[in-house]
Amino acid sequence: MALAVGIDLGTTNSAIAYINEHGQPVVIPNELGESITPSVICFKEGEQIIGDDGKEMQALGMYPVAAFFKRQMGDELFIFQADGVDYSSTELSTLLLKKLKKNAEAHLRQTITDAVITVPAYFRDPERKATIEAGQAAGLNVLQVINEPTAAAVAYGLNKTQKKQRLLIYDLGGGTFDVTLLELEKDHVRVKNSDGDHQLGGKDWDDRIIEYLASKFQDEYGIDPLEDAESLAELLVQAEEAKKRLTSFEKTVISIAHEGKKGKYELDRATFGQITSDLMERTMSMTMRVLEDMRLKPSHIDGVLLVGGSTRMPMVHQFIKKKFGKQPMTGINVDEAVALGAALVAKERGQSKPIFALKGRTIDVTNHSLGMIAINQDQTAYINSIILSKNAEIPCQETRPYQHRTRSKDENQLEIFMTQGESESPEDVAYLGRYVVQEIPHQKGGLAVIDVGYHYDESGTVQVDAKARNNKQKLKIKIEKLPSDVPQRFMNPPALQIETPEHVTAYLAFDLSGSMDGMPLDEAKKAALEFLKNSDLSHCSIGIIAFSKRVKTKLKASQNAMKIKNAINDLTARETGVGNAAHPFDKINSLMTGLDGRRFGIVLADGVWSNQNKAIKRAKQCHSDEIDIIAIGFGGADQEFLKAIASSDEDSFYTSMDGLVETFSTIAQVLAETGGRGLGLLSRLKGI
Ligand code: AMP
Repeated sequence: MALAVGIDLGTTNSAIAYINEHGQPVVIPNELGESITPSVICFKEGEQIIGDDGKEMQALGMYPVAAFFKRQMGDELFIFQADGVDYSSTELSTLLLKKLKKNAEAHLRQTITDAVITVPAYFRDPERKATIEAGQAAGLNVLQVINEPTAAAVAYGLNKTQKKQRLLIYDLGGGTFDVTLLELEKDHVRVKNSDGDHQLGGKDWDDRIIEYLASKFQDEYGIDPLEDAESLAELLVQAEEAKKRLTSFEKTVISIAHEGKKGKYELDRATFGQITSDLMERTMSMTMRVLEDMRLKPSHIDGVLLVGGSTRMPMVHQFIKKKFGKQPMTGINVDEAVALGAALVAKERGQSKPIFALKGRTIDVTNHSLGMIAINQDQTAYINSIILSKNAEIPCQETRPYQHRTRSKDENQLEIFMTQGESESPEDVAYLGRYVVQEIPHQKGGLAVIDVGYHYDESGTVQVDAKARNNKQKLKIKIEKLPSDVPQRFMNPPALQIETPEHVTAYLAFDLSGSMDGMPLDEAKKAALEFLKNSDLSHCSIGIIAFSKRVKTKLKASQNAMKIKNAINDLTARETGVGNAAHPFDKINSLMTGLDGRRFGIVLADGVWSNQNKAIKRAKQCHSDEIDIIAIGFGGADQEFLKAIASSDEDSFYTSMDGLVETFSTIAQVLAETGGRGLGLLSRLKGI
């Protein structure tokens, strides 16, 4: 029988949980009866000692010990050498997972088949994929990887909340710190924002105690106990124990022995607080930033939930109380919450319900935007063009056309550099991979359109696919190693060839008079989003203009899909005043003056404008300045007027409200397929 478990694969400690016969999530104890297992592997002459015993061996300092390897998850350059063997962090995680699985199977007397494994919310694609790989290599069918804070909220049963709540998850473990803002609604858990520092955790508090003790010892004997590996290993254990004692007691005493000398030192809570105050401050400033990013104050937070062993320290509770004016939520063991939540999700997933339905849907969002490298508007620089934007609900996907010149003789390939990050600058983003689309069929005329799809699945990992537009044929993709000159190669101006498609700039101008309110505006927005989806942002910039009584630039032409999407979603009826006195043509003209490439103004109107003659005159000025005007009308729009403002009769469209989406998407497709040279063909296209 299939048995699904939840695994908290932690930096310092790991835990494994399942749903027992009473339907309760419980942690499965290890062979020593402990609910958590240290994520430590000691390599002793060909033998691998994992968990509590491995940690004990670490204190002896005699054998190579792998610990904190989660910090290097997905890092191809990381290698841990022991007994003449090279281990990646994925392989070390596999050893740990195998041990957790074996112990749990012995305890339950049952074979574990499936697992949900948790990861920090800030884990990117390579770390998530490496986690899945580690689980599979340990013989587990990885149902999903989920974010640790989401698992914690599920464990607290908060996904069943009746009213909308904002919750902050403050997770301070042994080696990582994460802070996450969750929004809970009836049956929904949504990650709104998160940040983390995976070089900050309980270990840093231990190190401060070590430094404190070493300086005391040095003051007394003039020798530094940290110079000796064995003394240091002993101090590591002593310091952690002292820290834990300070959670229950006001003060404690620590003894050190080094080179035949003995020191005995007292440490109280106040001194411990002083020597670690900057560490506490780092967690708090990150916490405040997560709130400020969402324009929230501590008073907007309904509850703070603590996760991770280090949140037992009284100073954490005091800080939360001071900043948020209330005590953190308690009730579930801070070491177990994540594994318990994962077990609940595993149970639901094991029953093959969609997403992880726990009396409804628990939705996660993407934590980073994904994009590809493109060439900017004036073709002088590379930019990062965002395709899937941060905070989109997962699973999600987006397809974007990509123009590509093909030659009849050569093998045609298209190189896509996938990026992760919010910046438009190629210098400031992470590179996830180089996807080379293979065997692109040569297209007559030379310009092929490839639809490149990015898919973010429920585990937060990314898949890429590509299809040739003309025959819908799926193309082969090879994932290749990133070249060593990335991102430097994108800092120089692109070496343009004759074949590089000409850049297209398109301004979408929306009539936002009162008659657009409701359905018409909803349809217009849908149409604009469809236009965006069908535009090749590697060779095309899109700007947004609103007009009615006044004219307003909502967005200057951009290649950033997220910005364009936000500007479209932000359009509101009457935001530029009541009536139809204004026209967008002067604005379109001035915004595009001096821009290279093909330039388009795409104007949507639903009624009759008050100053039609003036508008026609200014539209004609655009035509003579080589800016093509495409006019789209519906509802009460005057068809003769549309023809008069459009660059040619073929560039004017009168459609129904239902036809808007198709009209906009067809225009975008023709722009992408012809680089804007085939618009005269539009009216002959089917359905328009
Ligand atoms: P985790 O990674 O969540 O398992 O957290 C492990 C960290 O919690 C380690 O740094 C431990 O030293 C710390 N920790 C565990 N128990 C306590 C305690 N009672 N007081 C202070 N820190 C603790």
